[in-house]
Amino acid sequence: MKIRRKSSRYSDSVRSSKFDYEEECSQERRDKNWFHTLFRWIITINGDPIINETNNARNYRYLPTTTNYIFFLGGRFRQVKDTQYLSLGVLLIIIIPMVLFSIFETGKLWHTEKGYKLLVIWFYYIWAICLGSFIKTATSDPGVLPRNVHLGSVQRNFQIPQEYYNQITLPTFHTDCNIVLKYCKTCRIWRPPRSSHCSICETCVLMHDHHCVWVNNCVGQRNYRYFLTFLTSSTLTSIFLIVNAAIDVARTPDVTDTPVAVLLIVYGFLTIWYPMILLMYHVFMTGTQQTTREYLKQIGFKNPVFHKIKRRPDNPFERGGFFKNMGSLMLQVRGNALVSARHRDHAGTDWTHMDLSTSFQMVSGHPESNETAA
Ligand SMILES: [Zn+2]
Ligand SMILES: [Zn+2]
Repeated sequence: MKIRRKSSRYSDSVRSSKFDYEEECSQERRDKNWFHTLFRWIITINGDPIINETNNARNYRYLPTTTNYIFFLGGRFRQVKDTQYLSLGVLLIIIIPMVLFSIFETGKLWHTEKGYKLLVIWFYYIWAICLGSFIKTATSDPGVLPRNVHLGSVQRNFQIPQEYYNQITLPTFHTDCNIVLKYCKTCRIWRPPRSSHCSICETCVLMHDHHCVWVNNCVGQRNYRYFLTFLTSSTLTSIFLIVNAAIDVARTPDVTDTPVAVLLIVYGFLTIWYPMILLMYHVFMTGTQQTTREYLKQIGFKNPVFHKIKRRPDNPFERGGFFKNMGSLMLQVRGNALVSARHRDHAGTDWTHMDLSTSFQMVSGHPESNETAA
């Protein structure tokens, strides 16, 4: 009897402390609600823990719970979390020469007798395209595919059926090759042709080319043209930087009087190579109708350097010509976002963003349900 009373008193005290804690938490939540809402709108890192209560939130509030994306300004921009954030370094590399050029060179070239105004205008115009396309590549949707479209049976705790581990082959116009489809065990969807799962972003991406560490985002169907624009405009920006700075050096009798112009020439020569080589690489990749991922799979290496880019004889997407291939990939339609960060879904009831591996482990208590989703 004593024991029972003791245990009852103990459970009462636990219950009361739990109640106090919950009360404290909800009070704290109420106090900080406006601040949390504003902060979460500015930067959404971990998703919204009370998302099921709100039920009409925009997708950016719960996409971070299933992907590695973080969102800024209400889901308008995105980046991948827990990386080296090399994209910030690239941003500085783009901005620094423009600042130096504006301070030390623009005035001198603008007021010359011969008039180099047009070159200065072109530099700023191309630089603005370079910056804009970089931001679009790095922060826009590469073509994220929705989750949990093709699920197993509810009765079997959504375990993946055995037949989903097989590949599906679809016939094409080419008699000697097929299109192969695979099931993504993490996203639980049959992936469309040329799509693949990015383990850094933790999502499947439409027409996936590669995950670019320099922009800290995947390059896929919806941002490929921005990526190519960025490579082209950054190469041209370096050229205009070199030309403009060289004019200043040529017009100055003593080269030691124009140290910044010399610095900008060196800067331009150092920064032109990487985007230019990458642009040439993508010209050949698109001309041979291949994505980077398909090409690496074909050559069997993780690094494409020192490998000849050749047309694949068994390529089912071949258009029958270098320029036809190039046009079909470079000018492909972006299409609508399949998972828009700004769109309002019914959170808690929309399965396309749920992480079924954890939720069904909790519901069913079956450890196997987690294994199958890994
Ligand atoms: Zn996937
Ligand atoms: Zn990625």
